Amino acid sequence: MNKVKPFIDHSPKKPAFLQLVFVDINGIPKGMEVPIERYEEAVTDGISFDGSSISGFQGIEDSDLIFKADPTTYVEVPWEGIAKVFGYIYKDNKPYHADPRRILRAVVEKLKEKGITAYIGPEPEFYLFEKNGSCELKLPDGGGYFDLVGLDKAREIKRVIARYMPAFKLIPEVLHHEVGPGQHEINFRFADALTAADNIVKFKYLVKAVAESYGLYATFMPKPLFGKPGNGMHLHISLWKDGENIFKGENDLSDEALYFIGGILKHARALTAITNPTINSYKRLVPGYEAPIYVSWGYKNRSTLIRVPAYTGNGARIEYRCPDPSANSYLAFAAVLMAGMDGIKHKIEPFAYVEENVYELGEKERDSLGIDLLPDTLEEALEELKKDKVIKETLGRAYHNFIEYKTREWEDYQKYLEKKGIDKKTTKVTEWELERYFYL
Ligand code: GLU
Ligand code: MG
Ligand code: MG
Repeated sequence: MNKVKPFIDHSPKKPAFLQLVFVDINGIPKGMEVPIERYEEAVTDGISFDGSSISGFQGIEDSDLIFKADPTTYVEVPWEGIAKVFGYIYKDNKPYHADPRRILRAVVEKLKEKGITAYIGPEPEFYLFEKNGSCELKLPDGGGYFDLVGLDKAREIKRVIARYMPAFKLIPEVLHHEVGPGQHEINFRFADALTAADNIVKFKYLVKAVAESYGLYATFMPKPLFGKPGNGMHLHISLWKDGENIFKGENDLSDEALYFIGGILKHARALTAITNPTINSYKRLVPGYEAPIYVSWGYKNRSTLIRVPAYTGNGARIEYRCPDPSANSYLAFAAVLMAGMDGIKHKIEPFAYVEENVYELGEKERDSLGIDLLPDTLEEALEELKKDKVIKETLGRAYHNFIEYKTREWEDYQKYLEKKGIDKKTTKVTEWELERYFYL
């Protein structure tokens, strides 16, 4: 593994430029840089831009947009001599309907009306690959789960990432090698839903930038390698009211937590379109790699879609194991929270939890437990999404943009398979996917 140059320039500079950050429909950071002197203006009047070529933002008629900075998100990146700020998008002085951050904020406000704050701890996994100028993937290390010395050649890279996380207001907690060779995870402190969604954008940026400085590529694509574990982005979720975690019960989870689980299970098949929004996502959701394939839940059970970890008191939470890092964190968190809140609103009791390894249950046993399969493809997930009123309401007009955009993605992939004569049901990772998703 070559160390090309250290990521950090040791002569930190005062920020001369301000990066204005928002995300497109895919959760990809977009934005522009303005001289730092325009910060006040960015907060008060906003900075106008042409949004006509942003994925998922509408055509020419929506091209004049305004970005207004949210000052609570301001961070300085001294080694690059810039500052970064997230914000909201406006059109004709009104909130722009396709702005993912706005969609999540509306959900956060809805919860706030009920006195509820949602906390989310996302766990994005990633692979490091050596650069070789093509889509051929070369692994820099052959380590496995929790390997430390020797086999984990990227431990220094992880430490460098962790050291610079606080500058981005990310608090690193655990660094470890994941199951796949060259696969890693750095856990950071949970946060309120909006901050947690911003954190994903910042985290991916930082991981990629540090990896690059070591001459490596970091990828968050859900399944870069056939036959190896995929990259998940488990979400640890709890709801709080008046400084107390309302998921904690006397000995077990509270009723609210169980209803929240009930809501997610009810909407799970449709949610998948938002939490697993790429063709490649469905190549991860296959048996044998600790990724879920059934709509199920259990205690401490890593084979289920929802796992209830062994934390009690204010640590009580659920872990939703389906999402992957190709999700737009804003849309995914908004949809998952509203699915869970639908469960609380309608007191949806979850069906029985499973203690067994769900991968090993027979079809009859699964049927008797009421366990359904998760969608096999993006197309199937989109069909479910089209029937889901709660998610439709949550995403507003962006719901249609999303379905349209993702249907086109599905069709492009079908055309590619046809042209190459590849079996339509292939679970192998294609070059089309590597080209489209590797750098996400
Ligand atoms: N990599 C696994 C996935 O695809 C998860 C492994 C874990 O439990 O952390 O979700
Ligand atoms: Mg993991
Ligand atoms: Mg986890």
